[in-house]
Amino acid sequence: MKLPGFKNTTDENACPCGSGKSYAKCCETYHHGTPPPTAEALMRARYSAYTMANDQYLRNTWHPGSRPEKISLKNNKNLQWTKLEILRKEKGKGKDKLGVIEFKAWYRSDDQNGYLHEVSNFVKEENTWLYFDGEVTIQSDDVVDDFKDFQPVRRRLSVEP
Ligand SMILES: [Zn+2]
Repeated sequence: MKLPGFKNTTDENACPCGSGKSYAKCCETYHHGTPPPTAEALMRARYSAYTMANDQYLRNTWHPGSRPEKISLKNNKNLQWTKLEILRKEKGKGKDKLGVIEFKAWYRSDDQNGYLHEVSNFVKEENTWLYFDGEVTIQSDDVVDDFKDFQPVRRRLSVEP
């Protein structure tokens, strides 16, 4: 029974990004083409896309200058993303052209829990936020292996500002 004043959001409807909103009112709108208004919103939408193995969305929101040839999540069948934790945000809003988000993305892989700790760089082009690249600061060897098919081309942003 639904009580008045309570949100009609069950765990199954909850957005994977952990915003507390339903998927329909959160990352789904971005997955359907609405450009996320901030770097953080894009970060969350991309995390949700990873949890759903939505390669197409990852491709569409990856800057062409650093995007891998092939983005395939098929090699990651044993890897399940369980939680996103945003640790730090710099710029990435309003008239900003750059944004930095530091996060931990928790996963479960073959009954082991772990997390990927990354500082991601986002750029805004034609009013659309795009993922540029990221510096992974902590990860296990297993994760390196799981990610080998979709590593960004590193550090192009600092070489050609
Ligand atoms: Zn979301």
